[in-house]
Amino acid sequence: MYIDRLDVNFENKPCYEIVISDDFSNLREELGKIDIEKKKICIVSDTNVASLYLETVKRELNDLNVFVHIFDAGERNKHLGTVSDIYDTLVYNRFDRKDILLALGGGVVGDICGFAAATYLRGIDFVQIPTTLLSQVDSSIGGKTGVDFKHYKNMVGAFYMPKLVYVNINTLNTLPSTEFTSGMGEVIKHGLIFDREYYYRLFENSKKILEGDPKELAYMVLVSQKIKKQVVENDPYEKGQRAILNFGHTLGHAIEREKKFILSHGQCVGLGMLAAFDICIRKNKLTEEDRKFLKELLHVYSFDTDTEMDVEKVLEATLNDKKMEAGKIKFILLDGIGKAFIDREVSKIDMLEALNSICK
Ligand code: NAD
Ligand code: MG
Repeated sequence: MYIDRLDVNFENKPCYEIVISDDFSNLREELGKIDIEKKKICIVSDTNVASLYLETVKRELNDLNVFVHIFDAGERNKHLGTVSDIYDTLVYNRFDRKDILLALGGGVVGDICGFAAATYLRGIDFVQIPTTLLSQVDSSIGGKTGVDFKHYKNMVGAFYMPKLVYVNINTLNTLPSTEFTSGMGEVIKHGLIFDREYYYRLFENSKKILEGDPKELAYMVLVSQKIKKQVVENDPYEKGQRAILNFGHTLGHAIEREKKFILSHGQCVGLGMLAAFDICIRKNKLTEEDRKFLKELLHVYSFDTDTEMDVEKVLEATLNDKKMEAGKIKFILLDGIGKAFIDREVSKIDMLEALNSICK
């Protein structure tokens, strides 16, 4: 059954569609619309996702010329070696420029497969089937593809748009709860930076969302996609306003690194958002009531709202972040719930106090 669809534009032109469904039964038809006949298609997936969904997806595409490339799941495999292995599969099977890649998996699969598609023969088409909440609401929108290099995250990459994003909302049923929480970090962020009603609804409807009600989940994913889409369409290459999507990420990333990646990305974004609230409260942009509500909301979705950390080290990592401009950090703050702005005047002291506010 179809649930919804969304057009995504790039540089003011229609670019691709996101289709939200509750199974894979419409995948073949949707692929047909992007001219797939007579092409070879290589499904790229990771070990976890392949064991759950590869057979079903292959069955849906059984009239097409399908190849498969699977790599070991995990961020540690998001490097150029994995991309090179994909090129091997493509060369061996004589893929040419009219053929197509299909990313079946979370953000790691999408980023790697998208980068392989962007670079193989200077670019071949690709389709994404995002299977984590994070990839459905975040990484599959906006055209960023790439891999980590040495210790640097997403250091090598390209902006490259898919031809289609196909979401089967029920893939979320098999997602481990920590991964669901991680995706909720970005969902809550979307509400905070852009849509206050949506933000409060995440609290009101938390029971249905956590029970995996497909309608409520689809609604949540759709609104989140619309928010990211709108921000990205207005600033595709992150020259200005797209930076508001980094709300909670400036301190969040530093916490993630300090904790040696034992906490999920979304969990750290949750902590980063709460820390940012501390700064907003001191600047009279948010209230203590707002902080209390965010804490409750985070608890509902199984986030920790404080953690043990070396605040000095986290601050140092923050100041070393690549998202600095002319020596100043582009800090994202809120001017009330639902309205984000960029502040270049957040001081070290502000950040230190903010970190102390979430330190156990
Ligand atoms: P992931 O792809 O590693 O998936 C998390 C885990 O869940 C993996 O073990 C995976 O095998 C498993 N999994 C995936 N779908 C499943 C399902 N339906 N059921 C059971 N298990 C499933 O991680 P992620 O959180 O989806 O994505 C994180 C990556 O996305 C990072 O590398 C990050 O840099 C990237 N990212 C990219 C963008 C972008 O704009 N391109 C934006 C945000 C994040
Ligand atoms: Mg993020």
